[in-house]
Amino acid sequence: MFDERFGAVAFPLTPGHILPTRGTARFVPEDRKRTMNHPADLDLFRAALSRLDEAAKHVQVDPETVARLRHPKSIAQATLAVRMDDGSLALLPSYRVRYDDTRGPSKGGIRFHPAVDLAEVQALAFWMTFKCAVVGIPFGGGKGGVVVDPKQLSGTELERLSRAYARAMASVIGPTRDIPAPDVYTNAMVMGWMMDEYSQGHQSREPGVITGKPIALGGSLGRDDATGRGAYYCIKQLEAQLGWQPTKIRVAVQGFGNAGQHVARLLHADGYRVVAISDSKGGVFRATGLDVPALLERKQRSRSLRTGYAGASVCDCPDCGAETCWCGDARPDQVITNTELLESDVDLLIPAALERQITHHNAERIQASTIVEVANGPTTPEADTILNRRGVRVLPDILANAGGVTVSYFEWAQNRGGVRWAESEVHERLQDIMTTAFERVAQFSSERSVPLRTAAYACALEQLDEAMSACGTERDFADAPKADQR
Ligand code: NAD
Repeated sequence: MFDERFGAVAFPLTPGHILPTRGTARFVPEDRKRTMNHPADLDLFRAALSRLDEAAKHVQVDPETVARLRHPKSIAQATLAVRMDDGSLALLPSYRVRYDDTRGPSKGGIRFHPAVDLAEVQALAFWMTFKCAVVGIPFGGGKGGVVVDPKQLSGTELERLSRAYARAMASVIGPTRDIPAPDVYTNAMVMGWMMDEYSQGHQSREPGVITGKPIALGGSLGRDDATGRGAYYCIKQLEAQLGWQPTKIRVAVQGFGNAGQHVARLLHADGYRVVAISDSKGGVFRATGLDVPALLERKQRSRSLRTGYAGASVCDCPDCGAETCWCGDARPDQVITNTELLESDVDLLIPAALERQITHHNAERIQASTIVEVANGPTTPEADTILNRRGVRVLPDILANAGGVTVSYFEWAQNRGGVRWAESEVHERLQDIMTTAFERVAQFSSERSVPLRTAAYACALEQLDEAMSACGTERDFADAPKADQR
């Protein structure tokens, strides 16, 4: 199972357990070497659970359902021993959480990021569970991650890391067990390597073990822009509901990766005025509207060939070192920070980067009247309270960014059925699922006078409760006679 050359070994990690090797030092930040779980990260999972408690107040569900959903089904931890090009060894903590699989195999992305930790992965797996339920696709929730700064890796190091992860988690994942996909700083090529490694270990080609693969390896047409497109379909529903005129709607997008790029592109093509875009190094603002296709082209062009990262997920400009080099185009007054982007004078704000971007520190200063959460968990519960009081409409992540997992489901279904769907068919099916889910959530929200987030969680909770109750709960068994009383 384990390849001696790359040396992936699976053994339990304890907090603070990162071995001090030369290779590791390059890729794991100082603060992560001291402790695996930061108090703020634990808060992330607690915050995720608070959404469950709030939703449970608005629907009649079995208490067992709520109790079960407070705990992940299983957690796998492994230290990946990855040989670096300079001969040193990096020992990298990695995780795979399967949160729930009552409604189907668990499903969720794999993140390569220095800030990954177990509580974050748990929160992400929890959100996946509710996301699949709210759009009604037959999957449970899972998530994985590796504590690493992938931008420091060469292409060969990245491939060894990806394959090491697939080997270490080979007994946890599987086409009918747990199906990973891309997330922050992982992409189609990484998924292809992982699928190949898993298939070699099982001595059979298993494209259905992972989604978001390159098309040539069994990926689905329409998966690359699915997350942004799903959010776009939701925005079209809001547009119809609120009578928006696209040319009059000013949009700010935080994060210009897979999710952010496509929603910005589709809105721009529709006539929306995308006035601000940022990535991890900062952003640009133009009151008259940015030329989104030109920015996309620049981002594609400046991507680093050195890292072996295909697609436009990770870019290192060869000139200035910024992820996206705006230097040529942007005058200083057009360059803005991420803080400025979030608080800019726009109608629609789209956080599409990382979690915890809108907090109690900046919620009062958000000027947008509508927020569409394309990132997972960008708004903290404290910020939610403030935004609700101020009447800011928030379309929650579990609905707004569900397009990605929906087309992942299509990819998996095509792989399992040995068929290929046309891109137009994928778009049609996606629009149908997103629109239906949006309408259900919007109706619940208006009928019960609750925020869209609470409505989305409540609708998902009903789906989960139906599945869990079908397995039998205390209500079914309480009156059953004990074996010795029969
Ligand atoms: P990605 O790696 O393709 O892009 C991430 C982007 O965020 C990059 O442009 C990066 O520069 C930017 N970024 C990173 N840190 C930032 C910061 N502090 N401030 C501003 N920008 C920052 O990742 P992605 O796949 O686009 O994922 C983005 C978000 O969307 C994540 O929360 C992810 O969980 C969520 N999401 C993604 C998908 C998907 O299919 N890709 C599906 C559902 C949810």
